[in-house]
Amino acid sequence: MRPLQQTLARPVEVEGLGLHTGVRARLRVCPAPAYAGLLFRRVDLDGFEIPASPQYVAHVSYATTLVRAGVMVATVEHLLAALYACGVDNALIELDALEVPILDGSAAPFVELLARAGRRTLDAPRQYLRVRKPIRVGDGQKHITLTPDTCLRLSCTIEFTHPMIGRQHRELIVTEETFAEELAPARTFGFLEDVEKLRQMRLIRGGSLQNAIVLTRDGLLNPEGLRFPDEFVRHKMVDLLGDLALLGRPLLARVEAWRPGHAMNATAVAALLRDPTAWELLSHPHRDPMDTRAHTDK
Ligand SMILES: [Zn+2]
Repeated sequence: MRPLQQTLARPVEVEGLGLHTGVRARLRVCPAPAYAGLLFRRVDLDGFEIPASPQYVAHVSYATTLVRAGVMVATVEHLLAALYACGVDNALIELDALEVPILDGSAAPFVELLARAGRRTLDAPRQYLRVRKPIRVGDGQKHITLTPDTCLRLSCTIEFTHPMIGRQHRELIVTEETFAEELAPARTFGFLEDVEKLRQMRLIRGGSLQNAIVLTRDGLLNPEGLRFPDEFVRHKMVDLLGDLALLGRPLLARVEAWRPGHAMNATAVAALLRDPTAWELLSHPHRDPMDTRAHTDK
């Protein structure tokens, strides 16, 4: 059976602070018709619309921000990762400020929000973006490689000198279940020694221990501790997935990321799209790549 496109069954909303702006925002995710894709709408700016698409990506140093005609939507990556993993192909995302609420710093509140929305199947085939040949960006220090696969398989390695991080590696096939269980709860993290510098750059004005892991020289400030011993690499995988979600279609590829960040994720997406022989659109994979039962080889 051909997988069909999905949207939400009903609108859902949540309110919270922007991590970088510190501004309170109301986010409302609404159903959208087939082929609409994921579309942001700034309801505070006469409904100005910005598609979640690689051509609008800008400012990728500390969060992924979309800009169209000077209008911005910032810190979209955790929400987009959740929409991707939950199989939401089409949604209208209304926002009354310039930054998506950070909530608890992870993608878990977005997964819960989308669960409340339910899903509706649309009468249109889902289109997959299948990688046909290897694409590699980066250098010896950090790189991303995309190679052909029958599902979306993420492999990620990070390396920090911090004693609580060190080298962490994780690999998984992205499905709604693996995302919700293994990646979504992992929170954003930062280093206490960078806080002052970031504040001076007018960043992380909404940051707190309620929405980020803050690392000191040899420990962390958060009294509750970590959600996973390797929460850091898991969060980097959320960010990576959020940036890949800008492709607008489920991806059939193995993505191997070595010390990824938003800028390099965006470079990988751009490099893939730039080479038309490196990918194809497919509406009839021989099995549903988001269906865990299909992956009996794992
Ligand atoms: Zn993040």
